[in-house]
Amino acid sequence: MPIRPILDAETAARNMAEIEPKYSPQEAVVEANRCLFCFDAPCIKACPTGIDIPAFIKKISTRNLTGSARTILESNILGGSCARVCPTSVLCEGACVMLDRDQQPIKIGRLQRYATDHVFENDLQVLHPPKQKSGKRVALIGGGPASMGCAAELALLGHEAVIFEKKPEAGGLNTYGIAYYKLTPEMSLQEVELIKQLGVEFRTGVEVGKDVSVSELEKEFDAIFVGVGLGHTYRLDIPGEKLPEVQEALAFIEEFHVNPLHEVAVGKRVAVIGCGNTAIDAVTQAKRLGAEQAVIIYRRGPADMPAYVYEYDLAKRDGAEFIFHAVPVEVLEQDGHVAGLKLARSSVDDQGKLTVDESDTYELPFDMVIKALGQEKMTDMLNNLLPDLELNPNGTIKTDANGQTNIPHVFAGGDGANGGAEVVNAVGEGKKAARGIHRLFTQEDIEGPIQWTRMGVVDDKPLGSGLDNPVRVKEDAKAFV
Ligand code: SF4
Repeated sequence: MPIRPILDAETAARNMAEIEPKYSPQEAVVEANRCLFCFDAPCIKACPTGIDIPAFIKKISTRNLTGSARTILESNILGGSCARVCPTSVLCEGACVMLDRDQQPIKIGRLQRYATDHVFENDLQVLHPPKQKSGKRVALIGGGPASMGCAAELALLGHEAVIFEKKPEAGGLNTYGIAYYKLTPEMSLQEVELIKQLGVEFRTGVEVGKDVSVSELEKEFDAIFVGVGLGHTYRLDIPGEKLPEVQEALAFIEEFHVNPLHEVAVGKRVAVIGCGNTAIDAVTQAKRLGAEQAVIIYRRGPADMPAYVYEYDLAKRDGAEFIFHAVPVEVLEQDGHVAGLKLARSSVDDQGKLTVDESDTYELPFDMVIKALGQEKMTDMLNNLLPDLELNPNGTIKTDANGQTNIPHVFAGGDGANGGAEVVNAVGEGKKAARGIHRLFTQEDIEGPIQWTRMGVVDDKPLGSGLDNPVRVKEDAKAFV
């Protein structure tokens, strides 16, 4: 049977609401006051964008939310979305010294969300690029987190940045590919607007290699940043894979971001193949959209699953089921539609070697199959765009510590270079590449957050200090001499 939407609009919206409600002002201050404001804080080192966490928490404790948000955003322009999607338990919160005292870590992610929401809810502009521009222009290919992190940093360093994105909206996975209850497209697009306020230009609906060539970009721009991410989900390569109810996980998730929730078709019995974080997003969303049964099918055991433990717990809480040591060998069909999966039992030996016993199979009924097997590298696309670009043996873009590739004016970062990591890693790599590009232009090294005393501030825009007293600083033109 073809699959259809299951829930009405109200129920779908309720099921897809954010998991953790926003802190109240009292809750935020109480939580902020638990922080020890450590010297040489390990939580800062654990953050790929190096946010000064004790500083932003201290500002929340003194109710200086604007200053707090500025501290976050000057290190991580996507601090709002990262507050929602970062695996904080293995990054900043996992490094919090409170754990050594057998206490709960400071809820850094929730505090970060509290501070950054203040900026978006009140439409504040807390970052201001310098009035004096360098005259240098950078083209960024792909409009996802890496390019946005790079472009924002370039703008704050006084360089012109233009992002080329083939989709109708920028934001990449933040806009199209993360579970709705974690991050809505509206939140992602607010961050796009924030970056536009810095002077970054977005040319959406423009595909590099089709609508504009790299050689045209090279004539118009002084440097190029490649932030293209990854490609299609790996194929199952089994009979029945082309049936209409077999979907890629990211395509399924994207449907929530471009269509009303209650119009997204979902099966009543859904199988998700794979056990990474995208698989968890897919299975939980299927369940929240009304699937009676949503099952993760994974070829190895629980100890080997790539998903974070808290994601696994979340899926279990949502009622998802898990079948381990099973490999799909056929998508079963009835009248041209998915009717189930034929699974072979698998095992893993002490060395981690997987064995599939295709003589030992069983069948389970499903009406939808979602593939979450990881994504292919964009090797062919990169070879076509930049034939001289050096790639690693695994197909990722080879860069040095500054994000510079073997082509001196071409830099790269994000999933296309790291093979697939978190949003915060992409932002951090984009920022690092921006500083590499700045060094290429000026021979100047930038360490730590860009200093506001160096950046200058528009006269009518007060900077928050430790309190909410307006402090004005003079523009210092030395940065661009
Ligand atoms: Fe606060 Fe924990 Fe960071 Fe220390 S490690 S500054 S207690 S959040």
